[in-house]
Amino acid sequence: MPIKLERKHACPFTLVPLLIALGFVLFKLYTASKVTNPETGRTARVGLNPEQEQKLGLEAYAQVKKDEAAKIVLTGPEIDLVKRVTNKLAKAAAQKATVNYNWEISVIQSHEKNAFCLPGGKIVVYTGIIPVARNEAGLATVLGHEMAHATSRHGAERLFRSEITKTILGGAQQSLAQMDPNQRQTIMGALGAGAKYGATLPFSREQESEADHIGLLYMARAGYDPKEAIDFWHRMDELLGKGSPSEFMSDHPSHGTRISQLKAWMPEAEKEFTQYHSRAPAA
Ligand SMILES: [Zn+2]
Repeated sequence: MPIKLERKHACPFTLVPLLIALGFVLFKLYTASKVTNPETGRTARVGLNPEQEQKLGLEAYAQVKKDEAAKIVLTGPEIDLVKRVTNKLAKAAAQKATVNYNWEISVIQSHEKNAFCLPGGKIVVYTGIIPVARNEAGLATVLGHEMAHATSRHGAERLFRSEITKTILGGAQQSLAQMDPNQRQTIMGALGAGAKYGATLPFSREQESEADHIGLLYMARAGYDPKEAIDFWHRMDELLGKGSPSEFMSDHPSHGTRISQLKAWMPEAEKEFTQYHSRAPAA
């Protein structure tokens, strides 16, 4: 009967795309390495090794500096402030980090209230966020969060989840400069370079919460009062209410969720803060 013949022939062919997809998933799982976050213990699969990831981070950083060359601040109190806070946070991060970071900062003159940190520890701060940060502890909240994305290798985790890993690892186009502009933008977005470079791969809620959690530990371990993080996020939320949202919080958890999570992590952070001050009493 014709209907039987049709079924006989149709089945194997409908399986082909499924088998290809399954093969790709297995290939990805086989080639990916699993990493455990030294601060939270969360495990994640990453599509790039630290060297590949840092190389892309460096290239993305060079691209941002080239694009913003005219607005890069070279000297002055804003640079000093960002350097001071970054140095303290870097020491705090190094206590548990499994990868060595060569932290570097660029401050860009702009009304944008944003900051990001690319893989390998390349930090970009837009001056617009400094008044919202208000003080060193506020800036430590911002930078601790961003540095935590880098030390948690969230960029590599996002790239693993995307098809684009195939291009990076399998193709001839090993560097950003060789890629077409769309691919370059997607990768830069995945690495965390802000909406300007494509928000097609935003950090996941899980990654955002993890960056909040680790950022809070970093700031407390660096000697900043972790409760200041809550004040900072209230200021950011007020800006949102005034119709002046910051890109920094655009794909982050809702304000209520964030504050209740920060409160839940506060005892752990306060312990770090107390330990810091027992080692180095405030002058
Ligand atoms: Zn974030």
